[in-house]
Amino acid sequence: MMNREEVLRWLHETDPTRLADLYARADAVRRECVGDEIHLRGLVEISNYCLQNCAYCGLRRENIAVERYRMSDLEIMDCVQEAVRRGYGTIVLQSGEDYGLETGWIADLVRKIKAGTSLAVTLSLGERFPEELAAWREAGADRYLLKFETSDDELYERIHPALPNRAYSRKGLLRILKDLGYEVGSGVMVGLPGQSYQALANDLFLFREMGLDMIGAGPFLPHPQTPLGQDATYATLPPEEQVPATEEMAYKVVALTRILCPNSNIPSTTSLASLNREAGRRLALQRGANVVMPNLTPGTYRLCYEIYPEKLCFHEDPDFEHAQLMQLFADLGRPVGKGPGGRPVDIAKGKESSL
Ligand code: SAH
Ligand code: SF4
Repeated sequence: MMNREEVLRWLHETDPTRLADLYARADAVRRECVGDEIHLRGLVEISNYCLQNCAYCGLRRENIAVERYRMSDLEIMDCVQEAVRRGYGTIVLQSGEDYGLETGWIADLVRKIKAGTSLAVTLSLGERFPEELAAWREAGADRYLLKFETSDDELYERIHPALPNRAYSRKGLLRILKDLGYEVGSGVMVGLPGQSYQALANDLFLFREMGLDMIGAGPFLPHPQTPLGQDATYATLPPEEQVPATEEMAYKVVALTRILCPNSNIPSTTSLASLNREAGRRLALQRGANVVMPNLTPGTYRLCYEIYPEKLCFHEDPDFEHAQLMQLFADLGRPVGKGPGGRPVDIAKGKESSL
């Protein structure tokens, strides 16, 4: 197991030869603990309405430049069928925090997907109330994704203004989700303005402590219609303390996450692939990641789901993207995962890598 000093040293490391060793170690741990399979989760961005006002995200409620949409259940079911047709094991329904997506409506949708397909259903609908999370679990939802974004509470409060009358924080909701029996995914942004190396090391150890089933960490990408994208003084640290939002830092975090949480599912994130269109996806898969989440949102809506600018999928033809992915996996000699690709059994047993 790596200790805190080692993690901090790696986060500061820039020597390509030593970094190559880190990446090789992460790749070996990935192979030993979760195998060669790459699991595909089809992502459908079902609504871009959002009640929250996160300082980093283009969908924040005060961004009036966004054209808002909410998909119908028929439109969503078409995407579900597309996921089945392509052989994906999981459908991920993601949205802003939109109470127009009513509790019962989402529960019915989950029931319909579970009754008609063998897909695992992952929800990523923001900080909904515990009763709603319970109702959706009851309806058959398997997993929930909710990133805690940063373990630095002071920074979190600054960039994620609290809504009134909320009894639970994201970290509190993650515990509730676990108790409800969901497989739980979380994660952070890498290089958030105001994120220190110490805070990022804490994030990595918190992933481990929380026993997360899935961990996503992608680079922060500034959006011009957000406070963090507009105001360079919004959250500042001395340059030597600030984590840069670079491609390399994102790979280091993927690799360290794999070493610290050997049995978790780790996606090769779209934000990383957006920074390096040519190789980002492949490099993350070779440095610890074992999951890819292709976007199945219909083109008309996709452009309006602008969490950050120039998302990779804006320019991709879905069939072309699928063919490209299949070619990439073939080049890597890694098979597509069969079935839902959920919590690897050894998480429960707490297996440690021997590497
Ligand atoms: N509303 C839900 C799901 C959509 S946002 C939620 O907030 O959980 C999904 C993720 O996008 C967030 O958790 C955040 O980590 C990421 N994100 C938001 N703005 C971003 C930005 N500017 N750069 C990179 N990632 C961002
Ligand atoms: Fe809404 Fe999620 Fe964006 Fe925050 S990160 S503004 S909750 S969509």
